[in-house]
Amino acid sequence: MQDLLSKLIKKNLPFTKDGNVANYIPELDKAKKDALGICIIDNEGNQYCAGDCDTKFTVQSISKIVTLMLAILDNGEEYVFSKVGMEPTGDPFNSIRKLETSRRKKPYNPMINAGAIAVCSMIKGSDAREKFHRLLDFFRLISEDETLDVNYKIYCGESETGNRNRSMGYFLKGEGIIEGDVEDALTVYFKQCSIEVTAYTIAKIGLFLANNGKLSTGEQVVTPRIATIVKTLMVTCGTYDSSGEVAVRVGIPCKSGVGGGVVAVVPGRLGIGVYGPSLDPRGNSIAGLHVLEDLSNELKLSIF
Ligand code: GLN
Repeated sequence: MQDLLSKLIKKNLPFTKDGNVANYIPELDKAKKDALGICIIDNEGNQYCAGDCDTKFTVQSISKIVTLMLAILDNGEEYVFSKVGMEPTGDPFNSIRKLETSRRKKPYNPMINAGAIAVCSMIKGSDAREKFHRLLDFFRLISEDETLDVNYKIYCGESETGNRNRSMGYFLKGEGIIEGDVEDALTVYFKQCSIEVTAYTIAKIGLFLANNGKLSTGEQVVTPRIATIVKTLMVTCGTYDSSGEVAVRVGIPCKSGVGGGVVAVVPGRLGIGVYGPSLDPRGNSIAGLHVLEDLSNELKLSIF
């Protein structure tokens, strides 16, 4: 496995020349464009890493799957999906247009920004601070890493530049989708995007989902039903308006973020984290998806 991973990183390194690192915040623009790494963990605890797997990056949209699990634990499936749908949009992750034209006026799914902001509003807590602390604790629990924390420079940048997200939050508040304080929901959203991880951290989250919501200790933290919902939405919506293509090319549940990470799940078997900050126009790691595609072909991982 180790040799295979090293070979795949080397082979796909040229793809890091394509695309661009996210630059809507100066701090994100500092990422090394040619970084590329992968980490795989199996359910016997074996770990295999190659390339830049210790590099820290912000989790960004990958956080959406974690918040969704906690929101369902806090409120139940029925309530959460009365406020946010389960359908792909085919639009960019930060698109606003379907919010108003959708008959139901609820965001199409929890993996686009509008849906994720609505999900943030459902995390229980008296204010943004308590809500976020509960979320960070949950993040630490499922990644089995007590040291996870927010990169405050990036959080400030997210908040300063997040006016499009803010506009969606206020729209959703106007429609009654967001019930509590809209600024609290936005603070939780900006902070969750700014949590710092490595390819290893997201592989652990992937493994948690692969094991249907169980930690390596055997402790069941979320129900298998919640894990199934999240994995299904990762397949249909996890890489936004590339989700169909990624399902064909990679064939396993994936969730990307503009920090350059992609988490992938092989149900019952593996958690995979890849990192490559150079993104395609849709916000997905170009080289990272190539590595996942090759890995899937080599090991016959497609669930289809
Ligand atoms: N912070 C980013 C945003 O809200 C996260 C989006 C992403 O990773 N696709 O625009």
